[in-house]
Amino acid sequence: MPNGFCIFCEIVAGRASASAVYEDDEILAFLDLFPINQGHTLVVPKTHAASLADMDSEVGGRLFGAARRLAQSLRDSGVRCEGINLFLADGEVAGQEVFHVHLHVIPRYEGDGFGLRIPSKDQSSREDLEATAKKIRDA
Ligand SMILES: [Zn+2]
Repeated sequence: MPNGFCIFCEIVAGRASASAVYEDDEILAFLDLFPINQGHTLVVPKTHAASLADMDSEVGGRLFGAARRLAQSLRDSGVRCEGINLFLADGEVAGQEVFHVHLHVIPRYEGDGFGLRIPSKDQSSREDLEATAKKIRDA
């Protein structure tokens, strides 16, 4: 990796321990050391990429494909899993703590205490939505 120590690169290289649940030539998935719920899995590209922008787009597709299959494996595994959240934090302000792209696959069940805090906001006008959509399209 380009600058300094990366714990996920250490895990990919086999120099740090992790409980792997899936591996192929581009992707590694292992259990989160601080699970929100049992079976909480992190899916990472084997090639270091700090952010979504740094990650190869095809690898990104592989990452999502692995997460989709792991979601089914979690449901079939006997781990308590009545639903799944996929979560990816891109950038410190978004809650990213390890700067190597990782997609969380989080088993969910009624009353598990996990949730997103969603602030209540007013409904946008069509005019505002169209102005925002134009900015994004133009970019
Ligand atoms: Zn890394």
